[in-house]
Amino acid sequence: MDLLLATRNAHKTREFSHILGEEFQISDLSGLTIPPIEETGRTFAENATLKALAVSQDRHLLVAADDSGLEVDALGGAPGIFSARYAGANASDRENVAKLLRELSGKRERSARFRCVIALARDGELVRTFEGTVEGVIVDLARGEGGFGYDPVFQPNGSDKTFGELRAEIKNRISHRAKATAQLREFLRAPGA
Ligand code: IMP
Repeated sequence: MDLLLATRNAHKTREFSHILGEEFQISDLSGLTIPPIEETGRTFAENATLKALAVSQDRHLLVAADDSGLEVDALGGAPGIFSARYAGANASDRENVAKLLRELSGKRERSARFRCVIALARDGELVRTFEGTVEGVIVDLARGEGGFGYDPVFQPNGSDKTFGELRAEIKNRISHRAKATAQLREFLRAPGA
């Protein structure tokens, strides 16, 4: 089955391909001339839907868009939908992580979760959304080189390793994206999807 991912984030594409497996032919927006889509929604679901609809109006393919981010309880749910631009419009992962650790310095309450919403669209119409979360804590110092974004400071509950330290196979089994994508895969596998 062909599936176009509405992303230019190579890390996300790699994780999706890994989780979905070989029965899906995955492509993404890299190399396609699709204008940048402004994320003007107020929730992950709104932003994922915006991206999926914009791309599926342009291409006659099944389109999946992921909007995801980190919610930190001691920061009232920030950075949330602003995770990619927490430290500024073009902030790097390193700058975002540094700002997060600064904001949390001295705070004992470290609980947090990654949230992912995937919107599936076809021919300009929303088919469905799928959601996954993973609960954990923000550690004091970044650990590990794997993954992307906030992975080096997020330790899922039940593990003593951060997402940056865990092998990709493990992250891709337990992550927010893995949970949302597993639902997407079941939906697409069902007869008549
Ligand atoms: P989006 O591209 O607007 O969905 O932004 C997602 C942002 O949330 C990323 O740039 C990361 O900062 C963060 N994020 C989402 N998923 C993950 C993950 O699996 N690991 C680490 N950071 C993530």
